[in-house]
Amino acid sequence: MKNIAILGSTGSIGTQTLEVVRENQDIRVLGLSAGSNITRLEEQIREFRPKLAAVWNEEKAKELRLRIADLDTRVVSGMEGLTELAVIHETDILVTAIVGMIGIRPTIEAIRAGKDIALANKETLVTAGHIIMPLAREKNVSILPVDSEHSAIFQSLRGNDGKAVKKILLTASGGPFRGKKEEDLLDIQVEDALKHPNWSMGRKITIDSSTMVNKGLEVMEARWLFDVKMDQIQVVIQPQSIIHSMVEYVDGAVMAQLGTPDMKLPIQYALYYPERRYLPGERLDFWKLGRLDFEEPDMDTFYALALAYEAGRAEGTLPTVFNAANELAVKMFLDREIKYLEITQIIEDCMRAHKNKENPTLQEILEAEAEVYERIESRR
Ligand code: NDP
Repeated sequence: MKNIAILGSTGSIGTQTLEVVRENQDIRVLGLSAGSNITRLEEQIREFRPKLAAVWNEEKAKELRLRIADLDTRVVSGMEGLTELAVIHETDILVTAIVGMIGIRPTIEAIRAGKDIALANKETLVTAGHIIMPLAREKNVSILPVDSEHSAIFQSLRGNDGKAVKKILLTASGGPFRGKKEEDLLDIQVEDALKHPNWSMGRKITIDSSTMVNKGLEVMEARWLFDVKMDQIQVVIQPQSIIHSMVEYVDGAVMAQLGTPDMKLPIQYALYYPERRYLPGERLDFWKLGRLDFEEPDMDTFYALALAYEAGRAEGTLPTVFNAANELAVKMFLDREIKYLEITQIIEDCMRAHKNKENPTLQEILEAEAEVYERIESRR
């Protein structure tokens, strides 16, 4: 029996993690958490009966306490609550399915407490990879990737010598606007950007996929997870999302993981690693599939990807600036305050204005985030 807790259980990754738990029967859920969606959280609590539930919003936490007064689950709130959930004594694995930089602190606390991490929250490694990875090594904690691309790389590395890796081939679908040029993107509406061709995901990551910011974040995440240089990671457009990523070795061999697009596979693999279990669902039929396509990414139109490479190569606080500027810009786009192309323009503007700080502490990372927010707010 494994014990898990989930940061962000009401979201896309969180609910799919619970589907995996439901289908298996040998995982106990000790902690569940949400930002404010207490209706879904209550349903989850009633089904999985965790010890602890964390709600970011204090008012919502109070309301939830009343709603589940008949149960033993304790409800906590705010950052303290998230942190308490991250370090529940009996937990083996913390699933970080929360969105945004808010995930950093609880993840660090969980590693300090010796919990393995099933990592979906890519913002954690992008902004604090230089803190997280050495800490995980020191505490002998496994960081198990949940992102499908990183899981594919992780799987393609099994049984091979990590030192023989030449490059990582990180695949991307290209999103809903693949093949379009800047002039085609002038009037993109929220609804257009939320239509991903292959994956059903949370709203923020779906927008990030359309701008290629998501791929940029993934490149930076892969750099830390697999201890490679930014320039060893090559993005390859694979529009069908069948090849989830590949690893090229020094002898020219390329290992890949393929499958139908289903996040439950990488989630289950992270929860049971190194065991590979049966997973119900569609299988690849190569006779029907017929072909797989590949393209080079268009980094002129989708120059957020080029900015991500720049930030990742620079390290320091610049990846935080890239990420924080994007987080706020996407929120503004979803609230219909800015136009689609302004998302990347805001990221670039914040990066150009920032004085990079090398090897930042957590405090300095959070300060860089605050600086970006102030800059964007002052221009509203
Ligand atoms: P969603 O937006 O669907 O879910 C986010 C979760 O985080 C929800 O449970 C939400 O709660 C919770 N949350 C948001 N803000 C807070 C807060 N302040 N305090 C506590 N909880 C909070 O996101 P996704 O599941 O799509 O993505 C989660 C992470 O996984 C992201 O970092 C994303 O990049 C990454 N990822 C996602 C993939 C996917 O397929 N969706 C694939 C690979 C990585 P509430 O419901 O109350 O808002």
